[in-house]
Amino acid sequence: MSSSSLYIHIPFCGKKCLFCSFSVAVNQANYVNAYLKALRQEALRYQGTRLSTLYIGGGTPSFLSEEQIDALFVLVSEQFMREDGCEVTFECNPESVTESKARLLRRCGVTRVSLGIQSMRDRILTSLGRAHSQEDAERAFSFLRSAGHENISVDFMYGMEGQSHEDIDQDLADMIRLGSEHVSIYALTVEERSLLFVRKGQTPGAGDADLYEGICSFLENAGISQYEISNFSRASFESRHNINYWQGGEYIGLGMAAHSHVAGRRFWNQDTLSKYLNAISQEGHAVVGEERLTPKDKMIEVLLFSLRMNRGINLDDLQKRFHADIPPEKIEVMESFIEMGLLEEDGMVLRTTVRGRSVLDEISARLV
Ligand code: SF4
Repeated sequence: MSSSSLYIHIPFCGKKCLFCSFSVAVNQANYVNAYLKALRQEALRYQGTRLSTLYIGGGTPSFLSEEQIDALFVLVSEQFMREDGCEVTFECNPESVTESKARLLRRCGVTRVSLGIQSMRDRILTSLGRAHSQEDAERAFSFLRSAGHENISVDFMYGMEGQSHEDIDQDLADMIRLGSEHVSIYALTVEERSLLFVRKGQTPGAGDADLYEGICSFLENAGISQYEISNFSRASFESRHNINYWQGGEYIGLGMAAHSHVAGRRFWNQDTLSKYLNAISQEGHAVVGEERLTPKDKMIEVLLFSLRMNRGINLDDLQKRFHADIPPEKIEVMESFIEMGLLEEDGMVLRTTVRGRSVLDEISARLV
């Protein structure tokens, strides 16, 4: 029996950040136990599946109490078998990391913590509506380190109104001083469903290619190498769970709004807490939609995801994997991007150049 990746979504948050457009359950701690019960029921259909990676994301998984985190890992152990070396990621926000929670995560087998710092400037954190300060971020990081977590990723956000290259460099330098093994970067985008959109109604400078390239070279100089469009790590600290997504691998998703890709079928769950809980209690599952891609569509999708990674993709292997040929019109588009210096070929391996990475959305749109 082959192994799988498992994602468990914990939708609870203490407060809603101003830029957030996700479906989250804000201040609904009284529903956490019912949610854990629903997760257990949903997991029954996968009983005995071996796991190569487990990712517990949100929302804010660290919002859960210690008893609830313990119960979550008990249900995982009851329903799944973690392989030796299974990568277990747990997302935390600084304000809810305590010394004993950090130790509990180690005891539960967490091998990787993703800490949502976003910025080391209190002014910026306030403008984003985050619930933590720089001091909270430093304290959380040190609790995690002291508890023995040797693989910590931090999130960094840029593209805020009035942010200069110098501001970003100083902010990044402060974050890097913490000594994390992995950094994920995100450009602030103001989605219509966010509180920031309601207040300002526009996107301030997000996605600026200059800022992006500056951040990439800053991190490279600090010894944290890019391996994906938004992800950087020290050697051998890449996220295996996310690489599986970008390579078009299969995965199981449990929880509100979770997506799964199992046996060639992709399906997704109800995206509000009440609908998810009701569906699980009445039907034992909360699936509301599904799709099956043709091998050719799937091949193009894997091609696009692979171009997000610095390693690129071997086109021969890709065509063999899907028993399909890349359509001639797509090859023409690739050739034009190679001539423009946005893609490069190395034998049969196609990858995005440094310049190409800052316009990847445009490249993808042309290749779809
Ligand atoms: S950005 Fe993250 S922490 Fe903030 S409300 Fe959204 S899911 Fe919660």
